Amino acid sequence: QSVLKGSGKDPYPDWKAGDPVPFAALCTTYSKIEMTTKRLEISAHCSKFLQQVLRLTPDDLQVVVLLMINKLAADYVGIELGIGESLIMKAIGESTGRSLAIIKADQKDIGDLGLVAAKSRSNQPTMFKPKPLTVRGVQESLMTIAQTEGKGAQERKVGGIKKLLSAADTQFAGKGSKGIDITKDKGGPSESKFIVRMLEGKLRLGLAEKSVLVALSNAVVMHESKVKTGKDASGQKIAEGERMLKSIYSELPSYEVIIPEMLKHGIMKLRDHCNLRPGVPLKPMLAKPTKSITEVLDRFEGKDFTCEYKYDGERAQIHYVSKDADEVFATAAPSAGKSEGGVSNIFSRNSEDLSKKYPDILQRLPAWVKPGTKSFVLDCETVAWDVKEKKVLPFQQLMTRKRKDVKAEEVTVQVCVFAFDLLYLNGEALVNKSFRERREALRGAFNETEGEFKLAQYGNTNELEEIQILLEDSVKASCEGLMVKMLDGPESSYEPSKRSQNWLKVKKDYLSGVGDSLDLVVLGAYFGKGKRTSWYGAFLLACYNTNKQTYETVCNIGTGFSEAILEEFHTKLSENTIDHPKPFYSHSAGNKDQPDVWFEPKFVWEVKTADLTLSPRYKAAADQLGKGVSLRFPRFIKVREDKKPDQATSSRQIAEMYQRQESVAKNKGPAADDDF
Ligand code: ATP
Repeated sequence: QSVLKGSGKDPYPDWKAGDPVPFAALCTTYSKIEMTTKRLEISAHCSKFLQQVLRLTPDDLQVVVLLMINKLAADYVGIELGIGESLIMKAIGESTGRSLAIIKADQKDIGDLGLVAAKSRSNQPTMFKPKPLTVRGVQESLMTIAQTEGKGAQERKVGGIKKLLSAADTQFAGKGSKGIDITKDKGGPSESKFIVRMLEGKLRLGLAEKSVLVALSNAVVMHESKVKTGKDASGQKIAEGERMLKSIYSELPSYEVIIPEMLKHGIMKLRDHCNLRPGVPLKPMLAKPTKSITEVLDRFEGKDFTCEYKYDGERAQIHYVSKDADEVFATAAPSAGKSEGGVSNIFSRNSEDLSKKYPDILQRLPAWVKPGTKSFVLDCETVAWDVKEKKVLPFQQLMTRKRKDVKAEEVTVQVCVFAFDLLYLNGEALVNKSFRERREALRGAFNETEGEFKLAQYGNTNELEEIQILLEDSVKASCEGLMVKMLDGPESSYEPSKRSQNWLKVKKDYLSGVGDSLDLVVLGAYFGKGKRTSWYGAFLLACYNTNKQTYETVCNIGTGFSEAILEEFHTKLSENTIDHPKPFYSHSAGNKDQPDVWFEPKFVWEVKTADLTLSPRYKAAADQLGKGVSLRFPRFIKVREDKKPDQATSSRQIAEMYQRQESVAKNKGPAADDDF
């Protein structure tokens, strides 16, 4: 707390009030953050820099915060970086007059393109000093690069990157500057280094999005206190500000909306101006895995709960404002579908815009809405539907549906929407109401239509045998199992973005096994043998360490793939090969453990395993357990298109699964459950 409270000197002296925020100031802060692993120090660096922005150039605060979390816009806007290595290498070469071969050799030595760029720039003789970059300028250039598409897009992207790199500082400002070992040093506040990392979509500062949110609340509270009283804010005020911003952000995860309101009205008045609103998707609530019905009964002992079918489709959040509602649809959603009845949109688990995938849902929506229902945010699952047999189809069927530019009349895979929660109704956020009340509201606001829109099937019971029957029935109805939810009291409120204890999932195939499937990132592949020689025959998979922001290897997998799938993966993955593992891959150095090819971290696959063991060959959860965890008999289940690599199963979850398995094996019952 004391580190956080003190305001101290400005972290970057050369900038006057009203000037655009110098990009060098942001890079200086990045560099300080990069040099420490202590959380408090990281937050303090962030907060001090944000205080300086607030005092000198508050208009740039929003851009600064977005760049700090390495985003160009909120997720639902759909603009992402993540430019491939080959384009960046080309641009570094062309902008610094070095050959591609040299850049590749450097990349092989150093293994970090950001540092390669910094080194290339520092070797370059300077004819003239480029005009200093500003944070806004960099953000605009990155935006243009990210949005470049169509004919000649690659070349134009390289052009954009070259322009940015040429304007970046030429200094390689590491400690000691000359003769430093660039492979060991983190590289100092070099602008080119951070530009390249932003382009790659990975800043790797150890700066979690949540820490930026906390630093922002801290900076605003400090700034407001200084303006009002000339003094630092009290610890209590800082804590209040943090609670406020966290709670607002969980319902309205949009800095574009929150920051202007916060600057206008002050942080403690945010509730009056920022609430959940149709048009801005919130991060969905998630469930914890359980291994048995008795575990559910133990956890929810003495409480009323409900068991809903767990449908196996795609999570969807539907937002709607009818034309005679009092409020308007937040303009933030870019492709909201205007229909006769009003404006609507549909978002994925990741807050991506799904309106182009499901125009049929948006078209039918007004028919499901009862009179008097003027605006809502609905949480549901879209499931492939067999129109003839009138039943749910397996998830694989949904996968065959086109992802974009679908015309409602050309849809081949019909879907039925199964609604299970209502988060907002007629101008009011319902997230803090009990689930019983929300379900009641859901029932009151919609009409079910066979094969199109249904409320999730459920039974309210705490009898073991009855739950068992519900589970069996759910499986017969092609569902994955049950979602067990608390019904009453504050514990049953909707907790956005949280994997909550108050939602438990019981999957049919948990009942033997480790408790849940894992979602893992494909880092590398091995060429096949025998029939599989023209494709990859096995793959190296990893989990994600959210603290270190690294990918930790967890298994090799070669089971569960059909030939058609292997062929498809070969095509897709080949486009993403890289010459060397990324510096943020944590893998065994042993020769026989190296895959034949490495990939950019892009694809997430769901995998099942018999159990978990410790193994020196892998790195998953090695920090927590001393040795890496590996999966025994892993089997491929499906591609998780709705998950990004950094949403893969975390090292912490794997450590917990391992510990839980061990404690069950020793008959001690499940390990204590903490929040993961
Ligand atoms: P999983 O692989 O189990 O889908 P996940 O990490 O995507 O994992 P979980 O929180 O583990 O998500 O499981 C909840 C998911 O189950 C939701 O995201 C949703 O898509 C789906 N689902 C299906 N039916 C329901 C329901 N009745 N209530 C809540 N979620 C449901």
